[in-house]
Amino acid sequence: MRKRVAVLGSTGSIGCQALEVIQCHSADYKVEVLTARKNKDLLIKQALQFVPGHVVISEESLYTEVRDALAGFPISVHAGNQALEEIATLESVNIVLVAMVGFAGLLPTISAIKSEKALALANKETLVVAGELITKYAQQHGVTIVPVDSEHSAIFQCLTGEQQNLPEKIFLTASGGPFRGKKRHELESVTRKEALKHPNWSMGEKITIDSATLMNKGLEVIEAHWLFNLLPQQIEVIVHPQSVIHSMVQFKDGSIKAQMGLPDMRLPIQYALTYPLRLESSFPRFSFMDFPKLTFEKPDLSLFRNLELAYNALEKGGNMPCIMNAANEMVVDAFLNDRVRFLDIPEIIERVMESLPLMKKPSLEDLLQSDSEARAFTQRLLRGGDGLKI
Ligand code: NDP
Repeated sequence: MRKRVAVLGSTGSIGCQALEVIQCHSADYKVEVLTARKNKDLLIKQALQFVPGHVVISEESLYTEVRDALAGFPISVHAGNQALEEIATLESVNIVLVAMVGFAGLLPTISAIKSEKALALANKETLVVAGELITKYAQQHGVTIVPVDSEHSAIFQCLTGEQQNLPEKIFLTASGGPFRGKKRHELESVTRKEALKHPNWSMGEKITIDSATLMNKGLEVIEAHWLFNLLPQQIEVIVHPQSVIHSMVQFKDGSIKAQMGLPDMRLPIQYALTYPLRLESSFPRFSFMDFPKLTFEKPDLSLFRNLELAYNALEKGGNMPCIMNAANEMVVDAFLNDRVRFLDIPEIIERVMESLPLMKKPSLEDLLQSDSEARAFTQRLLRGGDGLKI
């Protein structure tokens, strides 16, 4: 029996690469669900190619167009956010790959866990916002969360077979992004276009900006805390510009295991879909001779303050990572629309984190509320309210 995969966010960078992986293994895997927010043309093209049982377009106004384009095919078309939650629970789905970007991944991930689907999680924001609840639900329902994020996939792979050995610490590697080594005055006027030029990875716009500000690494620290049950001081970020070592685990005897390879997301995507097996792949192989020098640096926390904000949010706990995430999503969107400057990003996020109340043990409803409040507050700041000059 082929495993049936729901690819949530199939029109994105991870989604498209996941479809490539599934196509390479079409004897064992089949696409059962495809979803997009508003990219109807690509969604329709993918649906005509893979003929899944279901497609979902989140933007309800696009429903008729998608339905009409797929009329005559055995494909059910759905629209809206509620449909995304329901689609993750379908009997015909074995594996849910959550590859949507941002807070929107939270509720479909919860649905997938509660329906006891195998879960391949690319959407790091879900664990940032609600890591405690998500890991609790996963435990209750016996679901293993297999991370897709390359760093967490690396840690997960290093820990496989080490069930009896707790990690002493982990090293999350960071490329440093396009502005590594720059001085403050050079960052004052960087543009959206420059920030979107990642040196090693080709990714969606939001995560690419997060990489440039180091918020991506901050989100990953929180993600690692929940996935691997580690204290903040057990998670060290090191800049490794070649992006060849995807991350490392240090055990209590001092031994370090690293997972390496070319920066190619198809590898961790495939591993997450096929875990605990490794299937063959024809992806390009790494050559040590092409990388005679692997280098490591400390991250510059005084300039790239988002990483420190994320550690602070993790230390505070409760709803603070959720507040930070909401502010970040809003500010990144504003940066992408040329409404704020690069160096304003951490200033605004910090202001939101300082202004909203900490709730130590938030329920899911509390987190949904915190997300809305943080977005509303950030919006006010972006409009120039509350005395913030941006
Ligand atoms: P993209 O922006 O390329 O794609 C996002 C996908 O989610 C698209 O299919 C998009 O639809 C859909 N989407 C966006 N917003 C919503 C929404 N509100 N409701 C429903 N669907 C939505 O993102 P990436 O593929 O780069 O990243 C996806 C996730 O994976 C992120 O959480 C990211 O942090 C994580 N990740 C990504 C990596 C990468 O290499 N790209 C590496 C590691 C982690 P549409 O196209 O219609 O807008």
